[in-house]
Formats: sequence, structure tokens, C-alpha cells
Amino acid sequence: MKIAVPREKEIGEMRVALVPDIVSRLTKKGFQVLVETGAGEAAHFHDQNYIDAGAEIITDTKQLWQEADILVKVAPPGEFDGEAEINSLRPGSILISFLDPLRNPENILKIAQRQITAFSMELIPRTSRAQSMDALSSQANIAGHKATLLAAAHLPRMFPMMTTAAGTIPPAKVLVLGAGVAGLQAIATARRLGAVVEAFDIRPTVKEEVQSVGAKFIDIPLQEETNAGGGYAKEVSNNTQEVIRQVLTEHIKKADVVITTAQVQGKKAPLLVTEDMIAQMKRGSVIVDLAAEQGGNCAHTEAGKDVQYHGVTIIGPVNLPASLPIDSSQMYSKNLQTLVQYLVKDGEIELNFDDDIIDSACVTHAGEIRNSRIKDLLP
Ligand code: NAD
Repeated sequence: MKIAVPREKEIGEMRVALVPDIVSRLTKKGFQVLVETGAGEAAHFHDQNYIDAGAEIITDTKQLWQEADILVKVAPPGEFDGEAEINSLRPGSILISFLDPLRNPENILKIAQRQITAFSMELIPRTSRAQSMDALSSQANIAGHKATLLAAAHLPRMFPMMTTAAGTIPPAKVLVLGAGVAGLQAIATARRLGAVVEAFDIRPTVKEEVQSVGAKFIDIPLQEETNAGGGYAKEVSNNTQEVIRQVLTEHIKKADVVITTAQVQGKKAPLLVTEDMIAQMKRGSVIVDLAAEQGGNCAHTEAGKDVQYHGVTIIGPVNLPASLPIDSSQMYSKNLQTLVQYLVKDGEIELNFDDDIIDSACVTHAGEIRNSRIKDLLP
């Protein structure tokens, strides 16, 4: 069975779907791995590393796509030089990638019409059984870590407390809003750098996790259900959001750094930090808005830009995992390897739709879109 790894063509995408170490494990299991020349270059993996791992290097992009039984990718297939990548994939073959299905249902329709069986890495269930395939978590960990480093690099003061002959410098105060995977990792990194950290999440169940990574949890009693199930948060009413904002205003005023990560699956990100709240922050403070690509948790966030407002720097990073491509590719590859080996039994692809992992992640099969949430988004 042939697994193909194309070169990612999306601007700014530095990751590669499979790193040589994982290629080597797959070839030892009997898979034939084809890698497009230069596919790992941006992540510092050279063609020779792939050859040493047992892969075959392919120079013709179309040939690579056409030969794939399973094509593994990072970014959703796109259109480059007027040609849709998906049209080079053989009907009946398998595509495994981030597909952004809820924001790009038209792309999913095209994949279905091309008779491709596609797995969307965003839709791997967030369960213990599927943990080793959970690419949202592996990449969110990296984004959370990098968000804190970005904040530290932009803050005009230090994170740790320092007692020196020249006086004592107090530690920076960091506030993390949204304590899912990225938020918890942002807290852990800020603590390692010596900051004092507070955090809030709409799901009170995360309080213990927040405390276990060394932050103080801000308790805000809420009058409505905030859990949507599966670990995800529900979109809350404007009233509840207003109650939250009122409490958070005091904490935001005191913070040197605010890192926001709040997201609600398939919806625009909730507004947690208003223009008025930013105006009350200390000059020189920094906000890193990890929800920038989903519309932002903060007024004035612009995806891909650093914005100054009232002396506060608001950073709206895009695709942070790609900025640490060695580790993000390594972790994503491991997620893919686990999924591929889960799907292939004795050299044959086995699609058991009674299995919740396969049922949830497989978005197209036999010419149809399988997921009703995606279907409902189409005209
Ligand atoms: P996410 O990226 O969807 O959201 C980030 C965080 O924002 C969430 O914790 C959410 O509760 C919070 N949020 C949403 N609206 C908010 C608001 N208005 N104010 C404040 N916070 C708000 O979440 P994620 O990091 O992808 O993970 C969600 C959860 O899934 C995890 O916390 C965990 O419970 C669960 N999970 C479980 C497993 C597993 O069991 N193996 C693996 C991964 C994740």
C-alpha cells in the first residue's frame, strides 16, 4: 500500500505530514512511502533523510498524487497555479488531512464528488481511546507554548521575579482566558518562565487542571450550562458573557500579559476582551489572541498582525504550530501513523463505521458527505 506525502504549498505552512522517523516505522510495517521532493525542507528534513528511512522521492507532483492509495497532508488541499490539488487524487483513494470542514464545506463537497474517502483530523473524537490520533491537541499544545514565548518576547519587562543588588523586580502577571489544551500549555510555559498566572475558563470542570499546572483559577458563578459535551464549550448568552466580562475587567487591568484561547467549535470565537477593557490595561501590556483566525477573542485583533491600541500590543498569530515545524511535524506524524495503522488491517483498508473514531473523522465516502453538520452548511 502506497502512502504519499506531498510538499505543502500553502503560504506559511512549514510542517510536513510525515517526518523521516515515522516513515521508517511505516516502511518497516510494509507500507511503501512516496515523498515529494523537498516536502520536508521547510521543517529541516531533507530528501536524503527520507531516502535513509526507506521512502522513495518523487519529483513530479501529479505523479505523487496519482499513485497514492493514502495521501497524508497538513493543510487542506488547495488550488495552485489554477489547478485544484484534489483533481490529481485518484477516485477511490484516501485523503487524511486537516480539512477545516466546518469553515470550508464546499471543499468537502468537491472531495466527495471526486469519490475520495477523506478523514478530517479536526474530527477525531477527543476521547482517551483516540488520544494518540488527536492532532488538534498535539498542535494546540505547541500553539499554547509559543503564545507565551511571543508574549514574553514582546513584553517590555521580564517574566521572573529577580532580586538583585540593583533592586527587586516583581514577576510578570499573566492571565490566560480559555484553559483547554492550548491554554493549559500557555500557563505551564508562563510558570516555567517565572510569571504569576491566573486563568479562567467557562467550563468550571477545568479548575483542577488549571491549578495542577500552577495557576489560580478565577471562579465566576454562571447561571447556565456551559458544557456542550465531548470536552467542548457551549456558546453562552450575551448576558452570561457580560457577567464574565465584568469580573474579568479587574483581572485584565492588573495583567501584564493576557493570552486568549477561547473557542466554540464551528462558531465565531467569543469576544472576551472589549475595547474598553484594553483601554484600562497598563501601557506596554501584551495580548496574544490565539483565536485570531476564528475572529478573535479580543477587540482590535487582526489575524496575522500585531496591532497597537492604547499602548497595548495585540498579537493575532496565524498557524503558530508551523513556527515550530520540527516538533509540530513530529507530533502530527505520530497522530497520522496511529490513524493509518488503525485503518489498515493486513494490508487492506477496513472502514468500520460502527467505530466512533472512523465514523466521526471520515467526512466523505462513496461520493457522499457523511457528516450532517457539514451537509447542513451547504446550500
Ligand atoms: P477549544 O480550543 O475548543 O477551546 C479552548 C477553551 O476555550 C476550552 O477549554 C473552552 O471551554 C474555552 N471557552 C469557550 N468559550 C469560552 C468563553 N466564553 N470564556 C472562556 N473560555 C471559553 O478546546 P480544546 O483545547 O480543543 O479542548 C477542549 C477540551 O476537550 C479539553 O479541555 C478537554 O476537556 C477535552 N479533550 C479531551 C481529550 C481526551 O479525553 N483525550 C483530549 C483533548 C481534549
